[in-house]
Amino acid sequence: LGTLYIVPTPIGNLADMTERAVTILQQVDLIAAEDTRHSRPLLQQYNVSTQVLSVHEHNESSRAGQLIERLKQGLNIALISDAGMPLISDPGYLIVRECRAEQIPVVALPGACAFVTALAGSGLATDKFMFEGFLPAKSAARKKAFANLADQTRSVVFYESPHRIESCLEDLAEILPTRDVVLARELSKQYETYLSGTATELLAQMHEDSNQKRGEMVLMIGGVEKEAVQEDQPSAEQQRAVTLLMQHLP
Ligand code: SAM
Repeated sequence: LGTLYIVPTPIGNLADMTERAVTILQQVDLIAAEDTRHSRPLLQQYNVSTQVLSVHEHNESSRAGQLIERLKQGLNIALISDAGMPLISDPGYLIVRECRAEQIPVVALPGACAFVTALAGSGLATDKFMFEGFLPAKSAARKKAFANLADQTRSVVFYESPHRIESCLEDLAEILPTRDVVLARELSKQYETYLSGTATELLAQMHEDSNQKRGEMVLMIGGVEKEAVQEDQPSAEQQRAVTLLMQHLP
């Protein structure tokens, strides 16, 4: 049997590639990449000339079977995504699950991941947190997701698109107006920035400097204090959240 390697790539700064990641990519028989056009220049940068095959959202289930066949023939395969850790808001889960079911060895390499980097640099509590991937694109669903966090004591981490960040913060300002919010932008790149404050304060910072709406971003919401949750009286935020959730109930 071959081995499936899960290989993280940089999230912006090419120097964040590990030596081990480069060695594995050079040594495997095949690289399964999310977007081959995107990955080729990256691989060239690290002197990797291994054959590349595309595995994206839309062909992952059909590709999984083909990759499993090749692994069973003894080929070693590395899975990479466009940036960061494969499987984290990226394809790969179906293939890894199938490998585990078929007793095919899987080795995941440690490396760059946007949400871990963002949380570590945020100043929010890191002892307990939830990663929720991308927020819903529509405002009603997003508000509901925020309302569900009214008494969440853990830090919550989301990926968000620059096209939606303003409307997202407007929804957040309405549903959780007093919570600490941190927006980590362009991590590991030239214009890396962290904005922090309430959602309303972040919006004000964006209105002052429209560059703050651009680029790749991770949105984080601080948890509520435990004592606040244990109080008998629900907070104004919790009451608002309950009212909103009631509107969505059948
Ligand atoms: N697999 C990747 C990882 O390990 O983080 C995430 C892939 S997901 C499709 C892409 C999202 O990750 C972006 O929309 C953004 O929210 C976040 N992201 C990726 N690179 C980033 C960076 N350099 N700075 C901030 N956020 C980033």
